[in-house]
Amino acid sequence: MAWLKLTGKALYLMKSSSDRFIDSSSASSSFGSEDELRVSIPLQWFNGRDVPGTLIVNLTSDEPLPVDDSENRQSNQSLNGQVIVLDPGHGEVEAGVNDPGAVNRGLGRTERDEVRKQADLIKAELESKGASVKIVENNTGKSLGQIGSEGAGSNCFISLHLNAFNGDAQGHEVLIDTDGTAKNERLAGLINEELDRQLDIRNRGVKRQGLGVLRGVPRSVPAVLVESFFIDSVRDAGTLDRLIGVSAKAIATGIERFLVG
Ligand SMILES: [Zn+2]
Repeated sequence: MAWLKLTGKALYLMKSSSDRFIDSSSASSSFGSEDELRVSIPLQWFNGRDVPGTLIVNLTSDEPLPVDDSENRQSNQSLNGQVIVLDPGHGEVEAGVNDPGAVNRGLGRTERDEVRKQADLIKAELESKGASVKIVENNTGKSLGQIGSEGAGSNCFISLHLNAFNGDAQGHEVLIDTDGTAKNERLAGLINEELDRQLDIRNRGVKRQGLGVLRGVPRSVPAVLVESFFIDSVRDAGTLDRLIGVSAKAIATGIERFLVG
């Protein structure tokens, strides 16, 4: 039976009778509270053979190493054969015209660059479970409809965005098209639920909105647009990095639950 190990950095799902971990969930400081750590226990840890039986807390020990890749692949290949298309939003919308999306001027960081990093993290997470992941690079002047059409033949299409408003609002939301299907709603609901479990920010819920990029996706392919948080309200670079990392993990988990469940 697997076991859990909690350190100051993360909660680890440890391989049975081993000091190597199978999966991990990062601990993060709660918003506005530096002396409190939060860590979410991924639901999928309770689905497989390696259900955790014991929690060991050792805040001073070194972080464990992952199990070998070959072992890891055997332990969870739940997404074998699944194809996922990720669309990090904004970028070069036509030759020479570069759209940064939402901007945090104080930190000099843009939505375009952050969601591109987020896409790489989601891709790595899903590929570790056997999925094929395609990232639609937004540097080729494609129209929103053309970007959406890249979802053809895949099992789901996820457009990645960050919000901005008045430098104060914060929260996550997942959007589906105004005439989105029940499948779109289920996918959006699962991703939003994971964001709610893993990010300590307001849950703005699942919403319907007319969205050109989602309209371009063939109707048979579940498609959602994720607004993980408001980039303009983030106060420091470390928090922004953490929000990107944690939201990427949450989105990957939501996708996995949708495709496996
Ligand atoms: Zn955007």
